[in-house]
Amino acid sequence: MDFIIATHNKHKTEEFKRILTPLNINIICADLPEVEETGKTFKENALLKAKSAYKATGKICVADDSGISVDILNGEPGIYSARYSGINATAKENNKKLLKKLEGVKKEDRKAHYTCAIACVGENIEFTVEGYMFGEIGFKEQGTNGFGYDPLFISEKGPLGLISAKEKDSISHRNAALKKFKEKLEELNLC
Ligand code: IMP
Repeated sequence: MDFIIATHNKHKTEEFKRILTPLNINIICADLPEVEETGKTFKENALLKAKSAYKATGKICVADDSGISVDILNGEPGIYSARYSGINATAKENNKKLLKKLEGVKKEDRKAHYTCAIACVGENIEFTVEGYMFGEIGFKEQGTNGFGYDPLFISEKGPLGLISAKEKDSISHRNAALKKFKEKLEELNLC
């Protein structure tokens, strides 16, 4: 079955493909209009993107919204993860800002988690699911694997910047959400 993916982020598309291709789901990229992320939650933003893509293509669409939340910062940067240090912020700039905010914070207080919300919209179809990955924020960037905040995130399998894509997939928020997504597709006889 073909699904249009509503994202411009090639890292995310790769993760979706790696996980969904074995389920015979064919992920198709399309040139879709940018959507303003005006939702208050990850789920609301994922739904905005999937709805807009469905409106543009008329085909079943999947979109995600994800980010990192740090406990001691009351969940910051959360839904603002991509634009934490400004509208066109780079990952380096965002990571620098996060490290600065956590200056002087002890290891035990640096708990954080990633969230991934996935929305699916098609004819008579509309649902969202969510997955998480728990860990902590390190004191400096480590490694170059992954993307975004990964060089700062220490997972149960080690720093995400140092572990392989396969290891990250096995524990990632996106994989956890995709597993729930798959269950939902089965429930609805869509795969
Ligand atoms: P979105 O494209 O609006 O969902 O923004 C997601 C942002 O959250 C990304 O730009 C990253 O900064 C961060 N993020 C989400 N998932 C990950 C991940 O798996 N690794 C690193 N950063 C992530």
